[in-house]
Amino acid sequence: MEEKRRTLGYICPQCRQSVAASRSLFSLSVGKMKLPCPCGKSELTVDYLGSGHQITVPCAACGGEHRASLTTSQMMGHRILGFACPERSVDCCYIGEEGAVFAAMKRLEETVDKLEARKEEESPFLDEMIMSEMLGEIRDIAQRGDISCSCGSKRWGLEVHYSSIELRCADCAGKLRLPAATMEDLADLCAKPRLVIRGGKS
Ligand SMILES: [Zn+2]
Ligand SMILES: [Zn+2]
Ligand SMILES: [Zn+2]
Repeated sequence: MEEKRRTLGYICPQCRQSVAASRSLFSLSVGKMKLPCPCGKSELTVDYLGSGHQITVPCAACGGEHRASLTTSQMMGHRILGFACPERSVDCCYIGEEGAVFAAMKRLEETVDKLEARKEEESPFLDEMIMSEMLGEIRDIAQRGDISCSCGSKRWGLEVHYSSIELRCADCAGKLRLPAATMEDLADLCAKPRLVIRGGKS
């Protein structure tokens, strides 16, 4: 008797390797089926809900997780099905015949590699983590009302650059430049109870 099988594949967002395996229709139809990455940090799951299969897949393109629901006939009736990340419009999961899935996974690996390389090049900030921490800290200081200009104004604007943040007084030419590239820059900012823009002469 020929057992119906499906190959499922995704790319682990943690270690970037392809994870693919073949499962019988039976094992896809009894509660929860897990397809973990060998690194142990991600897994694809298929929950059988009676009316169909709910697939939850970790996404290497955006780092999130996506869900899709399939009926058994959809699951079994296609040579290959691909699910795309709604954010990055790159495929994140394939289900189908072994050969078709492995071929698609190979193409996907290249796409994800390119996406990764471009993401680094196109990053608008030298260090996104530092930048976002610093912007959060500035927001906190602003909420306490502790940002002002030496001209007396409390109206100001903010400009975010590649590795610095600049506060500009709205009422004079005053500026305050805060470097935002390293842990030291962040620590410096966190140590300041208030920010005073040095007022310029108008
Ligand atoms: Zn992994
Ligand atoms: Zn995604
Ligand atoms: Zn000012």
